[in-house]
Amino acid sequence: MEESMFYRAPGAPTDPNADYLVRATAYDGHVRGLCIRTTGVVSDAFAIHGTSPAATAAFGRFLTGSLLLADTLKNKEDSQTTNIRSDGPIGGMTAVCDSRRNIRGVLHHPIVETTYRAPGKIDVSAAVGKGILTVVRDLGLKEPYVGSVELVSGELAEDFTYYLAVSEQTPSVVSLGVLLGADGVRQAGGFLVQVLPGAPDHVIDALEKRATGGFPDITFLMEEGLTPEKILDMFLGDPEIIYLGAEPVQYACNCSRDKMERGLLTLGEEQLRELSQTEEGIEISCHFCKTNYHFDKDQINRLADSARKT
Ligand code: ZN
Repeated sequence: MEESMFYRAPGAPTDPNADYLVRATAYDGHVRGLCIRTTGVVSDAFAIHGTSPAATAAFGRFLTGSLLLADTLKNKEDSQTTNIRSDGPIGGMTAVCDSRRNIRGVLHHPIVETTYRAPGKIDVSAAVGKGILTVVRDLGLKEPYVGSVELVSGELAEDFTYYLAVSEQTPSVVSLGVLLGADGVRQAGGFLVQVLPGAPDHVIDALEKRATGGFPDITFLMEEGLTPEKILDMFLGDPEIIYLGAEPVQYACNCSRDKMERGLLTLGEEQLRELSQTEEGIEISCHFCKTNYHFDKDQINRLADSARKT
């Protein structure tokens, strides 16, 4: 069997450049790992929001971390909203994921100044600043689950790690990366490794060593052509790694003309009549995907009619 075939999880897309998430377990089930390629997701986000380099890096890491966190969503209607409110130039970011690994997001200020920590290393924390990371999981229960932590670094991988430590009391390693080229996103991805309760000390030690001992940037490994499976295998270092499966991930919005109409209806009859006075009608743009929905005078008046009836 070819090596490249060996390192493929069941369900991985045949297109070698597609975005997908891989799940694995290692060390007799004591360690759980996820690795994800999000180059397409972050490219789409960049194209939609027109982000400057620092914002692309920050938003890309944020979307990638959100997808890793959303892996526990299982049912069709489950959703997760991650939100950062911060005092840096970006101001804040929001991402919504569903159980089919669709993600959409929005950021307050897509164009921010780009500064560097080192040659070629964008200073993401300078763009994000200090603030709060909040995760809302709606799993179809009476109340959504809400957890939030203060940002500890603003580089985002550390912030997601801290969130997992506090909210799930699970020691985790999170790595996130976005590599930019001259005309867009070259690579984006991340991994999440969790040590489950009862793991032997030698396993914890080995993973800690790898996490702190200069394991290469994930985008460097991706640039070398490594698949998410192979990256996870390298980090975990267990020849007995078991790939549980893979799933495509994508930037996808669920907006529709119907939803926009329902939003307009909440304005009530009076305000809709006022809007219908505008000769050219109105244009509503979706925050997440920038699709424009145009409503002309007659359409707004019809909405006002139905608003009166309800
Ligand atoms: Zn949309």
